[in-house]
Amino acid sequence: MKCYSCGNSAVIYRKYEGRAWCKNHFSKQLESKVKVTIRKNNLIEKGDKICVALSGGKDSCLVLYLMDKFFGKRPDIEVLALSIDEGIKGYRDESIKKARELCKKIGIPLHLHSFEGEFGKTMDNIVKKDARACTYCGVFRRFVINKKARELGATKLATGHNLDDEIQSVFINNLKGDINRLMRLGPRPIVTKKKFVTRIKPLRDVPERETALYDMINGIDYHDSRCPNAEDSIRFDVRKFINVMEEKYPGTKHIAIKHFDTILPALRKHFSDTGKVKECSNCGEPTSRNLCKVCELLDNIKY
Ligand code: SF4
Ligand SMILES: [Zn+2]
Ligand SMILES: [Zn+2]
Repeated sequence: MKCYSCGNSAVIYRKYEGRAWCKNHFSKQLESKVKVTIRKNNLIEKGDKICVALSGGKDSCLVLYLMDKFFGKRPDIEVLALSIDEGIKGYRDESIKKARELCKKIGIPLHLHSFEGEFGKTMDNIVKKDARACTYCGVFRRFVINKKARELGATKLATGHNLDDEIQSVFINNLKGDINRLMRLGPRPIVTKKKFVTRIKPLRDVPERETALYDMINGIDYHDSRCPNAEDSIRFDVRKFINVMEEKYPGTKHIAIKHFDTILPALRKHFSDTGKVKECSNCGEPTSRNLCKVCELLDNIKY
């Protein structure tokens, strides 16, 4: 297949567009798309200190690479990386190696923190006490990332969420009837609340298979394996369903996200977010409850 623009051999055929592209045109298009997402939604401003949550996987490696490419030379913007070692032997140690290598290659400082350092327990310890690994891991990771990014003075926390992740979250929150979480999605960061670092998703308009392709073409070496604790979850089934729909009806993902973005302002206007932010009575971190979820979960696995 030939590139629609230059006739060189193509690396991708986008069914939803009906066109094929070579590696140069594909890479340029992805970069432009991310720039448009940033500009249109005012994700990054002068004076920002951007902390990239870097797992070493394909999406977070791409965010770091692009943040450095776009802003690394700007004197008014700082880029740094933050990795969290949950303590999953044979999995996270491998992905952190990739994170380290990428940071070294592009000259970005990497800040590394661990569950063990923060909570005195690794995920390998925790799964022996409670099989709900992902419940602990997700809650603990979000907590440490926010806390450490704030301590580093970050004004923005960039995550690797891509188009597929975002549309899956829209479906999941609809299926669960969770309006508050649904309203927190969207292209623009929600107004920063006390102690929460503003989260941004520069890859929100990029399909998942394109993030992996960009990495491969541009020599971004990432970690690619499945966590041994990964559970079958609602996300797993929703992902499968959306991919089947996209295959059968190309463009479904883009249409669904566009539709969500159109109705989001009305949703936010109609339903006010009831989640008031307080401080946890035990650890002082932000939460909507008296005792935060982290402190509650830590209590479950005390002995
Ligand atoms: S699959 Fe679950 S346990 Fe593994 S890294 Fe993800 S959230 Fe953590
Ligand atoms: Zn081309
Ligand atoms: Zn707490």
